[in-house]
Amino acid sequence: MLIDGHGREVNYLRISVTERCNFRCQYCMPEKPFSWVPKENLLSFEELFLFVKVAIDGGVTKIRITGGEPLLREDLDKFITQINNYKEGLDLALTTNGYLLPQVAQRLKDAGLKRLNISLDSLKEDIAHKIAGKNVLKQVLKGIDKALEVGLKVKINMVPLKGINDDEILDILEYGKQKGIKVRFIEYMENSHASQTLEGMHGREILTKVKEKHTINALGREGASPSFNYVLEDGTEFGLIDPHKHDFCENCNRIRLTAEGNLIPCLYFDEALSIAEFVKKGDIKGASEVLAQVLKDKPKENRWSEEELEDREISKRAFYETGG
Ligand code: SAM
Repeated sequence: MLIDGHGREVNYLRISVTERCNFRCQYCMPEKPFSWVPKENLLSFEELFLFVKVAIDGGVTKIRITGGEPLLREDLDKFITQINNYKEGLDLALTTNGYLLPQVAQRLKDAGLKRLNISLDSLKEDIAHKIAGKNVLKQVLKGIDKALEVGLKVKINMVPLKGINDDEILDILEYGKQKGIKVRFIEYMENSHASQTLEGMHGREILTKVKEKHTINALGREGASPSFNYVLEDGTEFGLIDPHKHDFCENCNRIRLTAEGNLIPCLYFDEALSIAEFVKKGDIKGASEVLAQVLKDKPKENRWSEEELEDREISKRAFYETGG
């Protein structure tokens, strides 16, 4: 079992397999970064897999592949197969913008992937275009349908932004209901890489919007999930991820690995230790020691706060690097 310095069990590894993305979402990567991590600094899937084995042997039971856009990385399905074959019963999931799913959903399913979280911030073509910096809506909706068709379990993530898509909260909820997909609303997390003109919606404002049409009852959190679940009058469930409260930090069970081998204990902070030199040499002991140190140093909680925006601290971490 992996236990961090605050006594929390860590059993969830998120792996960002690339920081590159085919979208330029305003809240994440509005412009191409000044420089990408050079390709030669990326860990190969073999090297990433060596660490995955260390993590699973230590007690990790849930793995999520993310990015950047993970579907841009070639041979991702082979990496998923490798992880899936390593141990039975792993909870193997992926987060994607959905754009490439029409081509690859079947391959992902065949590789052993169980669940997909797909980002869907708008059902209006022009607004989706405005948020993602590209005309994406039709292809993303096709991707969602394809994922459902091949039998993957799907959730939708929406980041509501004031004056941009805040009038679509009920529509996205309705879309999820029609498709039998659970929707999760994520509070915008301020970070220095996002477009600085954005204003996110607070969790309670999101709930107020939902209450304009529905009666809702609180269900609570599912285990260590950051999502607080609610149910509508007809039994439809949805989730709210509100990191500005940090009440889920006390149950945080996750660590993050970037494509170049940085092991990150908290989404908010810049601190990370690299496993790259160890996995490149096949040094399992060295990689395990880095993991132990990162667990020991894992912060108690993030520093997004409920203060007014001008008083809030802004994370310097790029979501496209950590995978969100
Ligand atoms: N490209 C994939 C996608 O679009 O889902 C995976 C990577 S993306 C960084 C993972 C998740 O992080 C997405 O659900 C996205 O909405 C979320 N995200 C990115 N930046 C965010 C921010 N500033 N605040 C809240 N959520 C954010």
